[in-house]
Amino acid sequence: MIAECPYCELKVDCEDKGHIDFDTGSGYPTKVVLLKCKICQKPLLGIAEMFQVDYEKWEWDAASRLWPDPEADINGTIPELVRNSLIEAKLCFKAKAYSACTVMCGRAIEGVCKHHDAGINSLATGLKKLRESGVIDERMYSWGEALRISRNLGAHATTEQINQEDAHDLLDFSIAICEHIFILNVKFDRFKQRQLGA
Ligand SMILES: [Zn+2]
Repeated sequence: MIAECPYCELKVDCEDKGHIDFDTGSGYPTKVVLLKCKICQKPLLGIAEMFQVDYEKWEWDAASRLWPDPEADINGTIPELVRNSLIEAKLCFKAKAYSACTVMCGRAIEGVCKHHDAGINSLATGLKKLRESGVIDERMYSWGEALRISRNLGAHATTEQINQEDAHDLLDFSIAICEHIFILNVKFDRFKQRQLGA
């Protein structure tokens, strides 16, 4: 059974070490399953549904991880300074501290700016620089700007409150910006290199 292993940071094949059928009301057979990663041998807990692959043929879909908590996962290739801020932002969100969550998202993006130019001293300048140098596009720049404005509201003693929905969106934008820069850009560069080499 396939599941995402947080230790290997990969989708891996796992051994089913025991499971319990669980009726979620979805209409599909479902099980909660104790899994063992075949690569690192570590334990995971997942939930999996069956899906129909053919007439009268059903198969188990990949398991969604229940434990270790997938919420706290931030890709390991994101630089530590940025990664730690994103993890804290997630923890703040879980604790319903939405202003603090937004402030941590701002710190993550500030980390991204500093990673590209250590001399950057404000998020506004940093975002402009990332856009000018083509690291982020116009759309991502506008996500960053929205985050910067909310971050300022969250960080200062104003009566403005950041609600759950906005905090969640800002968290998603922050993670998307970081994944775009540190994972997808790098992947795409490697892909291009391979194409040139082929
Ligand atoms: Zn593993």
